[in-house]
Amino acid sequence: MIEEIVAKIAQGGYAAGTAFTFSKTKNENYQAGDKEQEKSRLKAAADKFEKKLKSGMDGKNAELIEAEIMLLHDDDYISFADRLIVEESLSALKALKSAEKKLCDKLESSGNSYIRERSADVKGMTKVLVDIMSGNETVLPKSPCILVGSELSPSDITLIDKEMILGILTETGSPTSHVAVLAGGLDVPYFYGVSDVLGKVRDGDFVILDDSAGFLDGFGNGSVTVNPTENIRNIALEHQEDILREKSEAEKLSVNRPTKLKVYANIGGTDETETLARLQADGIGLVRSEFLFLGRDTAPSEDEQFEAYKKIVTAMDDKEVVIRTMDIGSDKKADWLPMEKEINPALGLRGLRVSLEYTELFRTQLMAIMRAAAFGNIKIMVPMVTSVWEIDRVFENLEASVKELKSRKVAFKIPEVGVMIETPAAVMMAPELASKVRFFSIGTNDLAQYTLALDREAKGLDRYYDPMHEAIFRMVEMTVKAAHSHGIPVTVCGELGGRPEAIAKLKSLGVDELSVSFGKYAKVKRLVIDLEEKESHKAKHIEKSVIKAPADGELVPMAEIPDTVFSSGMMGECLGIIPINGNIYAPISGTVKTIARNKHAISFKNESLEVLVHVGIDTVKLNGKGFTVKVSEGQYVDQGQLVLEADMAKIKEMGFDPMVIVVKNQSEGRGHENNKEDK
Ligand code: PEP
Ligand code: MG
Repeated sequence: MIEEIVAKIAQGGYAAGTAFTFSKTKNENYQAGDKEQEKSRLKAAADKFEKKLKSGMDGKNAELIEAEIMLLHDDDYISFADRLIVEESLSALKALKSAEKKLCDKLESSGNSYIRERSADVKGMTKVLVDIMSGNETVLPKSPCILVGSELSPSDITLIDKEMILGILTETGSPTSHVAVLAGGLDVPYFYGVSDVLGKVRDGDFVILDDSAGFLDGFGNGSVTVNPTENIRNIALEHQEDILREKSEAEKLSVNRPTKLKVYANIGGTDETETLARLQADGIGLVRSEFLFLGRDTAPSEDEQFEAYKKIVTAMDDKEVVIRTMDIGSDKKADWLPMEKEINPALGLRGLRVSLEYTELFRTQLMAIMRAAAFGNIKIMVPMVTSVWEIDRVFENLEASVKELKSRKVAFKIPEVGVMIETPAAVMMAPELASKVRFFSIGTNDLAQYTLALDREAKGLDRYYDPMHEAIFRMVEMTVKAAHSHGIPVTVCGELGGRPEAIAKLKSLGVDELSVSFGKYAKVKRLVIDLEEKESHKAKHIEKSVIKAPADGELVPMAEIPDTVFSSGMMGECLGIIPINGNIYAPISGTVKTIARNKHAISFKNESLEVLVHVGIDTVKLNGKGFTVKVSEGQYVDQGQLVLEADMAKIKEMGFDPMVIVVKNQSEGRGHENNKEDK
């Protein structure tokens, strides 16, 4: 039976394939022995598991596996279970279950969401250990599949050959979990929030994960289709192949292509540099140095930091690498740092404030960065600035660190210093700040949270947290003006810079560089290449408020369109066209705002208008079959340019009405888009 399920998206994307389910551990084979036997059984299982983890360790997942191993060695886990076997004569199985509860309770009582989420990792580890102790062979997938489980742990995933994972679907999960980080590194979709997932999806079922349902509703839900018809299944598999081909084409195209608007990458570790070096990326615009400070018991030493920074900068040759000093606090708590519990941590001790309160730590980091700067092109950037005096303190600390390095006679270089603009105060003080530093980088994630008065971690309020809000663009504009009048460049390093619909606008506001999440680098670089090519061919007069018919054919008034979503005007003023062929043209000159993943709808935007062209009624169900898109998101197009070819004969043959619908809206932000379904 076909089942359609709505899921939350932790990591977007599209995947189609066979489900491989991770079900609850069967421990009926378990026979308890005496104390000594139980103790050695537990120890043998823990050793075997640690060995397995280490053997699956590669450059990309080393930090995550180390975090797993640390949990394994936590005093409240294996060691505690060991004590229970001796003191309370429990079996290894029962002792481990009690230890799991103790450790999970401890983690879950933390004020830090990152630490709380580690309890899912502990449950996953217990499952594997119980399997080992019960003599159950952990069965791993042998062909590419969609992993399905009520909850998956990093251990489950690290034990599997990466080539075998097409996508991940779970009941519990979160966008900031380690599983989400792993899915991001593998570039596969990860959906969660499906209750009784193992009741809905069985081992061997055919599953489609599709994040495009959020195309018009903007709420970020994904759809899960279980056991579709053979026709849809074949379409889905073809679609998946198209996506992989497009991805490798984007990578090829973006290698070493200079663009005026430079594209840098954001990283949070040392491993991503391999890929960035292969893609010959323009540089790294944000090293989130917190990866060295979080999820551990003590502060990292100067040498440990130096080695990590040196590894990154040498991998990037002479390309620019911007290291952000520790942005600890709020959602990024370091448990080893004695900090008061705050009611409102996003408005408390965080970012640069932590560095200025704990200057020893700050100077250690500055010294490590300056030593690494002797090996490449490093810049220093400070986060969460609100006042000009803070920058004076930064330079005082830098000077003191330089003095110390000189007295130690070690090699170092003093990098340029820049400021993150991520508070409204920093925007307003941009002219003064610009006179003190060498560059700005706009952190739109935090800037949106502080400007829109909405916690970026708030659940269920996504529609109020809109980084595309006009207020943010106005702040970008103010920042750019202040920077350029002092001759310094501006980067946008928040997620906004990686949004296709924002790129042309940021460029037109004078932003010099984008620094985007590592996984989006090739795609964004390609969009920028396209945008700049178009701009250089443009220069023609553009009539911005005239819409040309996107297809040749007979006009149908709004009320007669055979779909109430359109005929009721819910989507905006619209018209239908009964097309005489499948060529679809851009109705206005402007940028391509969004392309539905299923390719049946494209929206366009310029300063006056937003126009959606929707080809066919209910054709979302075709999953892209019969549509060939000729443009990409963020690309500039001329009015009348061919943007899509639709195989009208095929669409009709599959039983769909091919009517082309043109929806007009004034260009005034995206609020009006909410609550619409992807038709
Ligand atoms: C930002 O706030 O936009 C940013 C890039 O920093 P982070 O997301 O690490 O807070
Ligand atoms: Mg920030």
